[in-house]
Amino acid sequence: MAKSEGKLRLRELGNTGLKLSCVGFGASPLGNVFGHVSEQDAIASVRRAFQLGINFFDTSPYYGGTLSETMLGKALEALGVERNEFIVSTKCGRYADGFDFSAERVTKSIDESLARLRLDYVDILQCHDIEFGNLDQIISETIPALQKLKEVGKIRHIGITGLPLEVFTYVLDRVPPGSVDVILSYCHYSINDTTLEDLLPYLKSKGVGVISASPLAMGLLTENGPPEWHPASPELKSACKDAAAHCKEKGKNISKLAMQYSLSNREISSVLVGMNSVRQVEENVAAAVELAIFGNDVGILRDVEAILEPVKNQTWPSGIQKS
Ligand code: NAD
Repeated sequence: MAKSEGKLRLRELGNTGLKLSCVGFGASPLGNVFGHVSEQDAIASVRRAFQLGINFFDTSPYYGGTLSETMLGKALEALGVERNEFIVSTKCGRYADGFDFSAERVTKSIDESLARLRLDYVDILQCHDIEFGNLDQIISETIPALQKLKEVGKIRHIGITGLPLEVFTYVLDRVPPGSVDVILSYCHYSINDTTLEDLLPYLKSKGVGVISASPLAMGLLTENGPPEWHPASPELKSACKDAAAHCKEKGKNISKLAMQYSLSNREISSVLVGMNSVRQVEENVAAAVELAIFGNDVGILRDVEAILEPVKNQTWPSGIQKS
């Protein structure tokens, strides 16, 4: 592991002026979303991540019903470093008790998030999973409310997140230029699904920064497989299981291959991976460092792409379903 120390690359995030580590720390596991994580492990994981050059941490009041924010807040405080040495994003509009993108709720929710995170401001506040809201409300009410939070210094930048890619174009085509700084897409830039790629030129033309989350497809591209609640079809789960078994047979870890694949596209500022242990942090940072030195393992990547070909770009429904 020593060869990885201090080598993680930073990438600019759109026009924000922020420079994010190419591997970002997804803190949903700290909300016990993928199984129980002790406070000790949460703090140790964040500490190790920061030591290895990860400067970007993402959470939400939704993850573990606020537990993720609380744990991340404790862990960041325990680092004992200057506030400008790390970048934090959290979200609004999605909560354990449901969705509420009203100006009133999101304005209240940032104060609650800041208290749990033990911070005076967050670098990015994102409207969480907007496909579950009314997109016209996001445009006319939520984003203007976030702009006011920006003016008073509680947040630095505004983002939107969601699964269906069309929600991004719907909103970005209708808001004043520069009012949305960042999009966070998930499960659309990994070996099994690369549909985000087609949207990258559009996002660049709008000056919007791109964060891509879930390079391991929320556990599909891991040796242990996905959690019970994973929404993928049995067919997709089975193909990913076969791909993981194939990698193992060839002496390669599918998670490393998947991290490296997602990290290869430099138009993506940070690849947000959920981590809950020092070991996972070290493995994912090592994947990035080795990619920079050796490039992708093309041979095994081609095998995995062939195994996943029948389910390529297969996704699942998310949001308010249209009849
Ligand atoms: P992921 O694809 O990053 O997978 C996480 C799972 O993989 C966890 O079970 C984790 O323990 C495991 N894992 C991590 N590194 C591993 C390794 N080296 N080997 C084996 N297993 C490993 O999915 P995710 O956590 O859902 O996504 C990452 C982050 O992105 C989230 O924590 C969250 O911060 C963000 N995210 C945001 C949204 C949204 O805004 N709508 C959606 C999804 C994810």
